[in-house]
Amino acid sequence: MPDTSLDDLLTALAASPSNPALGMLVVNACLAEADADALGRALDLSGIALLGDATQRDAALRLLLEHRDDERVLQVAPPDSAAALFARARLLLAEGDRDEARGLYQQAVALNPALEDASLASELAGKVISFANARRQHAEGLRAGNAQTSLANDDTDADDVARLLRAPEPRIGFEDVGGLDQVKHQIRRRIITPFLKPSLFERFKRRSGGGILLYGPPGCGKTLLARATAGECRARFYNVTITDVLDMYIGESERKLHAIFETARRTAPAVVFFDEVEAIGGKRQFSREATSAKLVSQFLTELDGFAQNNHGVLILGATNVPWAVDAAFRRPGRFDRVLFVPPPDEAARRAILELLLRDRPLADGVDAGELARLTSGYSGADLRNLVETGIDEAIEDSIERGRESPLTMNHLRAALKDTRSTTLEWLTTARNHARYANQGGQYDEVLEFLKQHGAG
Ligand code: ADP
Repeated sequence: MPDTSLDDLLTALAASPSNPALGMLVVNACLAEADADALGRALDLSGIALLGDATQRDAALRLLLEHRDDERVLQVAPPDSAAALFARARLLLAEGDRDEARGLYQQAVALNPALEDASLASELAGKVISFANARRQHAEGLRAGNAQTSLANDDTDADDVARLLRAPEPRIGFEDVGGLDQVKHQIRRRIITPFLKPSLFERFKRRSGGGILLYGPPGCGKTLLARATAGECRARFYNVTITDVLDMYIGESERKLHAIFETARRTAPAVVFFDEVEAIGGKRQFSREATSAKLVSQFLTELDGFAQNNHGVLILGATNVPWAVDAAFRRPGRFDRVLFVPPPDEAARRAILELLLRDRPLADGVDAGELARLTSGYSGADLRNLVETGIDEAIEDSIERGRESPLTMNHLRAALKDTRSTTLEWLTTARNHARYANQGGQYDEVLEFLKQHGAG
């Protein structure tokens, strides 16, 4: 029970706030659990004497900065330090003093390039108005009786403004994606960090262009991960499905594709997610009739354009049939990194089930852990199907009995009989490709997964 013990430590600290040994314990516990709130409370109790040496102070500052607790960063960091300048920049921006904020941000990054934050930089540059800012400015404009208040900068058009004011889809982060720790780690290392700190990568002469292609059985979280990646980068998310692009008129599909890339560039930072990449970038034998060679080459040209200059835009793709994606798409600078998104393991299934069961009328004894054990091979989408089938039973019961009868474990057990896992079929097909067409080891992760699950 890590939370309780941290709470206990804080209670003890409240009783003797200037006990250095206790202070050290508390700080270490807060850092180990990355709990910025608890650290804040401890600082309120003991002041900055709480932080023993410089190492501890730096670690505390990193945690506070990450959690955007800028007020406390200012308490802890020396006034001219990079961290303090950075925090002041963020606070000033929130107050609307963008010019001053920009200057401080630049000084901060000059002192410590690791503080670079591309999404903050573009807010400071004024290219992007964040949802929060746009809504606030809009509300202020209305309060001032000035409905004409311009939200737009020179490079924002009316459509953008309309979109800015539309309630954004709730932002999700990696904590909303169950399991998949390996994949999250890879995404963080390979694209989120380079995305947020481009200059640091330049200094180390580390190339960071190119997109990531996620593949795996359907319904296992590729789209969810892409959305969460955008959330982690605090970037806009564009979810492009093939139907958005394909058009029966000649040349129209190419034009739409170009417009999508242009919009993303204009509204950076952005994550553009192409679902069903194989439908645009498929090998000829797999491609749909509507896809033309011209569209494929347009897509490749756009991707190459990004390899040269991808400032603030990340490209992610997903496919259930990676073996149908043309190898031209995997060249450097295009989708040069390919990640396997496996079916959820037991812990991930449990997390997904807990999300699905949240806010439903549940009887005592509904046990997500038990269900997770019984659903080996189920994808996230299969689990959703399972819960919905159970819910249908509960609704029927309720109608029969004339009063609400909550979802029970029995409903869910009955639903288990009516649903099935869909990942096995995919894994069987994938196994054949992995065994017989594993050029360059591209399906090694699939083979590894099959081996671990005794199906290799
Ligand atoms: P894919 O893009 O791989 O076909 P999605 O990301 O659209 O699959 O997943 C379908 C649904 O299944 C999601 O909307 C979500 O409800 C659920 N789901 C799948 N994987 C996870 C996961 N790892 N954590 C939480 N929910 C998940």
